[in-house]
Amino acid sequence: MQVTVNDILKAANGKLLNGNGDTEINGFFTNSRETHSLPFKNALFVPIIGERVDAHKFIPQVVKDGAKAFFIKKGHELPADIGDAAAIEVDDTEAALLDTGRWFREKFNIPFIGITGSVGKTTTKEMVAAALSSINVHKTKGNANSTIGLPLTLFGLEPCNEAAIIEMGISEFHEMEKLADAGRPTHAIFTNVGTAHIGNLGSKENILKEKLHITDCFTEDSVLFVNADDELLSKVVPENSEFRPAKVKHVVTYGISKEADFYASSITISDSGTDFVANYKDEDGKPLTEQIHLKTLGLHNVRNALAATAVALKLGISPSVSKLGLAAYEPLSGRGNIIKTNGITIIDDTYNASPDSMKASVQIIGEMRGGKEPIHRRFVVFADVLELGEYAESEHYKVGEYIKTHNEENPEGRIDYLITVGKDSEQIGLALNSESLDTNPVTKHFSTNVEASNYLKSLLTKGDAIVVKGSRGMQTEEIISSILNDE
Ligand code: ATP
Ligand code: MG
Repeated sequence: MQVTVNDILKAANGKLLNGNGDTEINGFFTNSRETHSLPFKNALFVPIIGERVDAHKFIPQVVKDGAKAFFIKKGHELPADIGDAAAIEVDDTEAALLDTGRWFREKFNIPFIGITGSVGKTTTKEMVAAALSSINVHKTKGNANSTIGLPLTLFGLEPCNEAAIIEMGISEFHEMEKLADAGRPTHAIFTNVGTAHIGNLGSKENILKEKLHITDCFTEDSVLFVNADDELLSKVVPENSEFRPAKVKHVVTYGISKEADFYASSITISDSGTDFVANYKDEDGKPLTEQIHLKTLGLHNVRNALAATAVALKLGISPSVSKLGLAAYEPLSGRGNIIKTNGITIIDDTYNASPDSMKASVQIIGEMRGGKEPIHRRFVVFADVLELGEYAESEHYKVGEYIKTHNEENPEGRIDYLITVGKDSEQIGLALNSESLDTNPVTKHFSTNVEASNYLKSLLTKGDAIVVKGSRGMQTEEIISSILNDE
C-alpha cells in the first residue's frame, strides 16, 4: 500500500500536529514491538489504550525505530523527540483505525466475504480461501477478527486481489456494526449461534441479532450463507422472518439437512480424510452433485466445505474446480490432522478440547474405516479438559458414558483402548468401569504424558488408529511427538 499522511488526515478526520502531509506510509501497526520487522519501517503507529497499558507511551520508541507517523488521541501531550514524524490527532485512535480501514477498503471493487459465528470462523475462512485458490484472494491472517485486527487486515489488500475473505468476531454490542461499516462485506457466512460471549450479549437471540449486522452494507446482489443445521439460524431464512434484516434479499443455506440448498450426502470417514457428495442446484433449478474429498475429519468440516463450495459458485467458480482446492486444504497443526506412521493412523487433535469435541472425536474415530486394510484397534487418548470448574468431574464422567453407549451401539467402530492423562479425565474411565461390560474398552489412567506415551508405545502396532486430544494446557502434542520420535 502507498498512501500519504494527507489521505489519512481526511479518512480519519484528523489534525496534523507535527510533520508533513506528503509523508508516504506503507502500513499500519498497533504492536510497538513490530517496528523490528521490515515492512513496518515507514508505517503509521496506532497507539491503543488498553485496560492496563496506554500505548501512547511507546510513541517516542517506535519513531526512533522507523515509524513515519502516528495517531495521537486528543488531550494526550505530544511527546518530544519525534523528529519529523507525522503526528495525527484524532478523537479516538481505534475509531480512526477503523475509519481509515474503511476508506482503504473502498478502493477495492471486489467481492468481500465476511465470516461470523460462534465457532468455526477461522476454519471456514481457510476453507473458503482453499475453494477460491484458482483466483487471487486476500484473507485475514490467523485470527485477527477484532475491531483492530479487521482494519489491519484491510490494509493488506493489493490491486491484484480478486476477492477478500474477512473473519469478523465480536464479544460486545455494537462491535459488529463497526466491523461491518469498515469491512463492508458484499456477502457473508454465518456458521452458528452458540453461547460464546453470552455473558456480554445476554441471550442467543441477541447474539444472532448483533451478528446479523454483518449484512449492514449488503446490496441487492448480496448473499447471506447460513448453516441450515443451526436451529436459530434457520429462523433467518423465511423472507417474512422477524430475524431477517431488511437488507438481506438472498439467503443460501448449507448443511447436512436435506432441506439445505447445498447439502451433503454419502459422508464417509477413512484414514485419508472425509468424502461426501455435495448436492446443489444450478441457476435453472437442475439438481447437480459433486464428489468432494477433504483431508480433514468431522461433520463440522463437511459444513465448512459446503459453505466454501456455495461461496465459490456465487463467485463463478464451479464445484468441479473449487473441490480441487478443498482437497488440497491442510488443517492447521493439532486440529484433526491425519498423520500416518508405520501403518498407524494418528489423528492429531491436540490443539484444544471440550467435552463436546471429545464426543465428536469418539464418533469420528468410530466411523473411520481403513483403506486397503481394515482398522485393527481404535485408541482414544484423552487428557483433562481444563476450566470446567465445578462441572469438571461430571463432564468428564459424561464423556465416559458416551463412549460406553458408542461401543454398545457400534460394534464395528468400537473403541478398544481408552487412555486418560492428568486428573479429572480419570472420571472418563470410571464411568466405563462402573459396570464391566464386554463392550467396554480397556481403560488406563496416567498422571503424565510421558507415562501415557510409554504405555501406548508398548502397545501400538500396524493397523491401529489413535486420536489424541486434551486442553491446550495439557500439551498432549508431546504424546504424538513421542510416538513419532520412536518410529
Ligand atoms: P475464535 O472465536 O477463537 O476466532 P473460530 O470461530 O475462528 O474461533 P475455529 O478456530 O475455526 O473457530 O474453530 C475452533 C474449533 O471449533 C475447531 O478446532 C474445530 O474443532 C471446531 N469447528 C470448526 N468448524 C466448526 C463448525 N463449523 N462448527 C462447529 N465447530 C467447528
Ligand atoms: Mg477464529
